[in-house]
Amino acid sequence: MPRPAGPPRRKLKPAEQARIAELFARFEAQESDPRTELDYAGPYTLVVAVALSAQATDVSVNKATAKLFAVADTPQKMLALGEDGLKPFISSIGLFNTKARNVVRMAEILVEQYGGEVPLEREKLQALPGVGRKTASVVLNELRIEPAIAVDTHVFRVGHRLGLSTGKTPDKVEQDLMAIVPEPYLTRAHHWLILHGRYTCLARRPKCEACPVADLCPSRRLFVR
Ligand code: SF4
Repeated sequence: MPRPAGPPRRKLKPAEQARIAELFARFEAQESDPRTELDYAGPYTLVVAVALSAQATDVSVNKATAKLFAVADTPQKMLALGEDGLKPFISSIGLFNTKARNVVRMAEILVEQYGGEVPLEREKLQALPGVGRKTASVVLNELRIEPAIAVDTHVFRVGHRLGLSTGKTPDKVEQDLMAIVPEPYLTRAHHWLILHGRYTCLARRPKCEACPVADLCPSRRLFVR
């Protein structure tokens, strides 16, 4: 899989390189093929689900899309449903008015310009309404088209706690991670870090006692006495 143009690989001291390799080897041992927890059946439903998930939980999105995709799982059907028809399906999700407008505009462009297919190239994907860089990264990474590490609140926190980045912004953390995560793990790192943050390295009370990488974590001493 080609690596996108980006920051060069960072040269690390051997001990740090070994620590990071071991971190990801352990995540791999736990779950070798991690996937998004969003429900989808193909590129179109994936891009819609990811776009809807901004500032919303995967659980809430799955609840909404279970009914939505039963009636509109293609751009053509979404267009037929229209903005007013779409809103009731997603009204439990934050920012649903804006998201409804974007999803219908996106459907319009997919039908008019791409024959109803999702263009799986970063530039074209990012240009779609409601699809920013982060959404494009998640989609391309999930479909194993391009390795990317979209940084959400979990990835940001876990990246800091594990000493993988001190970046102050999601973009900087992303650059750091792309530069130091070993190549074989790049595609899956995004999911591992999210899952680790969601279920183990919780924001307020991380479960350090049950953490599979506790002995490799520089932050453990902050939480375990
Ligand atoms: S040891 Fe604790 S702080 Fe470190 S990664 Fe594990 S859960 Fe998070």
